[in-house]
Amino acid sequence: MSDAERTGGAPTGSDASESAAATDGGASDAAATDTRAAGDAAPSGTPAVDDVLSVRDLSTRFFTEEGQINAVESVSFDLREDEILGVVGESGSGKSVTALSLVDLVETPGRITAGEVWYRDADLADEFRDTDAVRVDGDHVDLRTVPPSVRRSLRGPSFSVIFQDPMSSFNPSITVGEQIAEAVEVQRRARANPRSTRSRTQGYGLGQYLLDGIVPGRDYTSEESMDRAVELLGQVGIPDPEERVDEYPGQFSGGMLQRAMIAQALAGEPDVLIADEPTTALDVTIQAQILNLLKEIQAERGMSIVLITHDLGVIAEMCDRVCVMYAGEIVERGTLESVFEDTVHPYTRGLLGSIPDVDDPRARLEPIAGNVPSLIDAEMDDRCYFADRCPKAMEACLDRPPEVTVDAAADHGAKCVLADREYDPARALPDDHFGETGDAADPDDAAATDGGDGE
Ligand code: SF4
Repeated sequence: MSDAERTGGAPTGSDASESAAATDGGASDAAATDTRAAGDAAPSGTPAVDDVLSVRDLSTRFFTEEGQINAVESVSFDLREDEILGVVGESGSGKSVTALSLVDLVETPGRITAGEVWYRDADLADEFRDTDAVRVDGDHVDLRTVPPSVRRSLRGPSFSVIFQDPMSSFNPSITVGEQIAEAVEVQRRARANPRSTRSRTQGYGLGQYLLDGIVPGRDYTSEESMDRAVELLGQVGIPDPEERVDEYPGQFSGGMLQRAMIAQALAGEPDVLIADEPTTALDVTIQAQILNLLKEIQAERGMSIVLITHDLGVIAEMCDRVCVMYAGEIVERGTLESVFEDTVHPYTRGLLGSIPDVDDPRARLEPIAGNVPSLIDAEMDDRCYFADRCPKAMEACLDRPPEVTVDAAADHGAKCVLADREYDPARALPDDHFGETGDAADPDDAAATDGGDGE
């Protein structure tokens, strides 16, 4: 959908404002006329049947000496069955903390301060259906209300995480095979005795401790779990897995180790795989191989993946739907096509403008001016957090914009005043409105990078 179509055929952006200015002397109300029904477009209410995960108003804070840092600010999204959901944004936008919050891995001084994380698990729902303190809705359970031991037990069989840097995630003094086999063994024992993983010792109780004392060198892993580790290494494309299984992480290349980490993440056959910048540390060729591998695995196993990245090229290659994060909030969301082709938020436009054009390698890349805010609560004004970097900031942006539906059929919504009105230069904030931090690019430059349509 073009901007003109979206706004009912009206000229858009600076073009619209210029034509309005020509007829009424520049202070046009017409340019600020709402063209869509406003309303909160963020997912709300109880989860749908095909949602594997439904996150509602999740907020995570860090309580530091410098002050309270609002790392994740009332984030809501749904992860559907058999889909790859992309979460994209610059460093410091809250992507990784959102992922850690989902799996309850936020460490002190961080804390999840509000929100719901509904996970679909019929057995878990049945287990807690009659428990007053736990919220259950159909087959979904709000994981924020179950005991921490239950959340911990879901890591592996329900949720797995692939981290950015495999080198720091593997223990260098234990063979790769042994570390994958440990993950397999934990899941094997969990299946045999689900309650064992809810204890702090994860099934390693007094009996195991005494046995280890009597039989030194007794392995936690079994022959069966080592065989499965070999199988998993083979499935993720490690050549000669029977030999490589006995090698140490230092003997693996970066790409091989990332594959090994994927193998480890698959050990529990999770419903949800969270891949946090899984290819950032890899060169382009290996990056493509790892992304292909993730796609194949997702298709084969019907898993749902949350793919976190700062790279919209990766999102375009991999994802069904996308959430764009800025300053701890989701500022634009929708199907891949809607967000890429009917972009509303100037931040999303900025990210898109920073992707090199393969058809025009000499085209100038447009960086987004300024820096992400500190997220320190005392320094966060009650306005659009992107306003001091936005080339289209207007007076209206000094109030916090709600998320507005752009296209309900495409789940497309944006937290931006441009979702339901046009840019009006007569109401633009002066360049020095935010003092020296106000370093936003000229709107005309932005229009030039958008192909001159003013948006
Ligand atoms: S609300 Fe205003 S300042 Fe914020 S992104 Fe939209 S146009 Fe820019």
